[in-house]
Amino acid sequence: MEAVVADSVQEITYQKVFEKQRIRAMQIRTQPVSDRLNRLKKLKALVESHKQQIRDAVYADFKKPAAEADLSETYVVISEINHALKSLNKWAKPTSVAANPTYLGTKSEVQYEPKGTCLIIAPWNYPVNLLLGPAVSAIAAGNTVILKPSEVTAHTSALMRKLINENFPDDELHVIEGGVEETQALLKLPFDHIFFTGGTAIGKIIMRAAAENLTSVTLELGGKSPAIVDDTADIKDAAEKIAWGKWVNNGQTCIAPDYLLVHEDVKDEFLSRLKQSIKDLFYANGENIETSPSYSRIVSDRHFSRLSHLLNEAVDMGAEIVIGGQMNAAERLIEPTVLLNVPEEAGLMKEEIFGPILPVKFIKGLNEPVEYINSREKPLALYIFSKQKQAINQIQKATSSGTACVNDCVLQYMQPNLPFGGVNHSGIGKAHGKYGFIEFSNQKAVLKQRIGLTSAKSLYPPYNGTKQKIIDFMMKYI
Ligand code: NAD
Repeated sequence: MEAVVADSVQEITYQKVFEKQRIRAMQIRTQPVSDRLNRLKKLKALVESHKQQIRDAVYADFKKPAAEADLSETYVVISEINHALKSLNKWAKPTSVAANPTYLGTKSEVQYEPKGTCLIIAPWNYPVNLLLGPAVSAIAAGNTVILKPSEVTAHTSALMRKLINENFPDDELHVIEGGVEETQALLKLPFDHIFFTGGTAIGKIIMRAAAENLTSVTLELGGKSPAIVDDTADIKDAAEKIAWGKWVNNGQTCIAPDYLLVHEDVKDEFLSRLKQSIKDLFYANGENIETSPSYSRIVSDRHFSRLSHLLNEAVDMGAEIVIGGQMNAAERLIEPTVLLNVPEEAGLMKEEIFGPILPVKFIKGLNEPVEYINSREKPLALYIFSKQKQAINQIQKATSSGTACVNDCVLQYMQPNLPFGGVNHSGIGKAHGKYGFIEFSNQKAVLKQRIGLTSAKSLYPPYNGTKQKIIDFMMKYI
């Protein structure tokens, strides 16, 4: 393996941890699966016993309500661990595969070997879940791991460092905090796998850096996820589910509906139901969203100004605010806001919104939404609200997306037996459960032959007429 030349104290420190992890990874791969299970149990106990600290950290970072912290950070990690604890023995068992008659007498199987030493780079929007969730898969697959939380959620990042670094040996699982510079220094190291969750533009930087070491990558990226509401949908149900999926975590969810395509025959009813649902879910204290106990904040001033610019620009270009629109920079708060007539040239329709603003377009029929979606990059999630089975199937067949959910929002992420990930611009590779385990494993192809025997012998040179006949027979019948 090529030596990495470190050119700063920081890089030397990272390299030391990396080297220790590489050595430990070689030991771990020879140890029984029960060792991995013990590591997972330890992680579970740590997360469970720090539930309150996790609540406090995400509240300090962006006023995430305690119930949401429990549900979307702690619970998700615990359930990922429970699923792995129950299933790991089965996942880690070699899978036998069938063989055709030319392989008579042999045994073939897929063995799941650990990739080795892995790097997990996390975003800020679910700063515990998206750091520790992939770590569960990496540990389950028998790897050593360096974790790089997002610098944007500084309180949670510090908590993760304390939690992991004080309880796990640094040659097994170790947190390195930092932003762009620190991540780029880490990316120089020849990891065996990099699991990145973040924006599409940064995903390209990660993939370029990984290419230098031919490191495999999982890229969990973002993009514009549409929700279609057709004229047969249960409008009340659709509006309520969309209001939750969009504004939970203040719209800062990779699979939140980014824009809506609503059939024009149901537009008035839909907008009025959406308004009511937003009120019921987020304005339980009356008119004032600032005192709402259920509405978190935009994570940083930079993101507040990005979002307020997108909103103001769309209005300047002729868009109409039909719900919300109030902003408070000091509180980093934008009300749940819905816009109509947003021009296609506006930033709101061109980039991922990732905040509490929702453009709605009115459409007719099935072809129009399909063509609109297909004229853009493939989304991470596609939502369809409809009662027509045929229309649902038709939309799904005619479009490509990393995930899809019919008559609900966001829940496809939580289903532990489904793979989670994007396609092309919305991501590469899959996470969660067995799919996450496979992502962090090398699926090694192993063929076992009997000593002294091989059917290939009948085809060894020198070639002659008989051998040609055997080849002809194989090509025709096998
Ligand atoms: P981001 O891409 O800005 O940052 C993600 C991580 O990359 C952070 O740890 C950050 O420190 C690091 N980073 C940032 N710039 C870098 C650079 N130039 N070089 C090296 N490392 C760099 O993403 P974010 O703002 O933290 O998160 C929001 C994005 O993440 C959205 O696009 C969202 O859709 C996406 N996301 C995707 C998923 C998913 O599962 N597919 C989940 C959550 C968020």
